[in-house]
Amino acid sequence: MSKKACSSCHFITRESMCPKCKTSALSDDFSGLVIVFDPENSAIAKVMSIKEKGHYALKVR
Ligand SMILES: [Zn+2]
Repeated sequence: MSKKACSSCHFITRESMCPKCKTSALSDDFSGLVIVFDPENSAIAKVMSIKEKGHYALKVR
């Protein structure tokens, strides 16, 4: 049971499909972890175009 990151939105999930993009383009080769609690007021969420709270990878290969 390893976590994977969506190669499109960088959302980290344990599912076989990204719950946000509905894509199965997930990678277990990611680095960095960003936890967004308040996307409205988070500078890094703006930079990464994150609109929902959750766990995100900084880089997905
Ligand atoms: Zn996604």
